[in-house]
Amino acid sequence: MFTGLLPKRGTLKRRMLPFLRADLANLVSYTPHPGAADHSPDTESEQRTLSIDRLDTNECPYDLPDELKQKLSWLFQQELESNRYPDGEHSALKRAIAHYVSESAGLPTDSLSDRQISVSNGSDELIRSVLIATCLRGEGSILVAQPTFSMYGIVAETLGIPVVRVGRDSAFQMDLDAAQAAIAQPSQPPIRTVFVVHPNSPTGNVLTTAEIEWLRDLPPNVLVVIDEAYFEFSKATLVGELEQHPNWIILRTFSKALRLAAHRIGYAIAHPELIAILEKVRLPYNLPAFTQMAAQVALGQRHLLLEAIPLIVEERDRLMQRLSELPQLAIYPSQANFLFAQITDATGAVVAGSQLDTVFEALRHEGTLIRKISDGLRITIGSAEQNQRTFERLSVQIKLLSSL
Ligand SMILES: *Cc1c(COP(=O)(O)O)cnc(C)c1O
Repeated sequence: MFTGLLPKRGTLKRRMLPFLRADLANLVSYTPHPGAADHSPDTESEQRTLSIDRLDTNECPYDLPDELKQKLSWLFQQELESNRYPDGEHSALKRAIAHYVSESAGLPTDSLSDRQISVSNGSDELIRSVLIATCLRGEGSILVAQPTFSMYGIVAETLGIPVVRVGRDSAFQMDLDAAQAAIAQPSQPPIRTVFVVHPNSPTGNVLTTAEIEWLRDLPPNVLVVIDEAYFEFSKATLVGELEQHPNWIILRTFSKALRLAAHRIGYAIAHPELIAILEKVRLPYNLPAFTQMAAQVALGQRHLLLEAIPLIVEERDRLMQRLSELPQLAIYPSQANFLFAQITDATGAVVAGSQLDTVFEALRHEGTLIRKISDGLRITIGSAEQNQRTFERLSVQIKLLSSL
């Protein structure tokens, strides 16, 4: 009965509901599938039935194997007490994560304790906890190098935390001079937290030696967040250096290589005192009981799940090779499960705007949904058949463009 009063999305004015914070009216929120909703099917299940290739959110193309689904159904039926609150301490899950992190970094499996792990409802929740713990109350701003994962800036803005943005060079390495100048400059509030992604999204590059050196030299009153969401693909991690750097925190997720995006599990690895604060600022029951079960099952069966990684990496390199032969397409080396591509003109300069829109729209129309981002296209690696379709559809479009 209120529908007549509902303003169109985005037109909510502060004047109408004067208790709202004024700055939130202009906030641009995270859009899971930009461009997907206008003409193509709305819901994920509709997309599935129409077999849209969903290559815009970097998930694993494969669902859990049947035996794991059956195990989860059994746990749901037999073990889950729906009337009870979940374990709010996540103790068993933290121990399993500590073991997995050490094992996969080639460290002794007892080298991390559960006091160095915090678990969250997707790593997005940890981004917010970190900001609450470091920058809130006007105490700090954050630094990011564009282009990068958009959630850092979005979450900061919802909390009224200023975002300082620096650029990257043509190989997408951070402008370290600008970053250093921003940190050295006395500003109100000072930069308290630096976010880096290893490898970066959307560009796929891992941190270079120079970038890591710079992170090592940052003063102890600046927190360094190293987001390793794509670790299982890159095998690159800075976990081994956490011991020497109490001002570093590593974020990981079960949403990509471990195929649990639907269940929302992220985790952080850091100094026990920092972890203790993150545990204080989070909500008490942030992780549903079934989510904790799913995470435990995935870790128990990690070898089975991670068998797909070499295949995805091989598919990525093959798609990269084939796309690099197309005219007017610049495609960049990636250590993750996606590729970043840009359209160029005859002189090699990047063209964005309407030409990029045309290619993105044409692919979407044919059923390949990728992400248009930072003057380029980010393409998730899917199954072999999906990648074949991506190649065919993209090459038709690029050839059309270059024949103009
Ligand atoms: C996908 C992704 C995440 C994962 O977020 P969840 O909330 O755990 O699903 C985190 N960081 C980056 C850079 C990502 O691309």
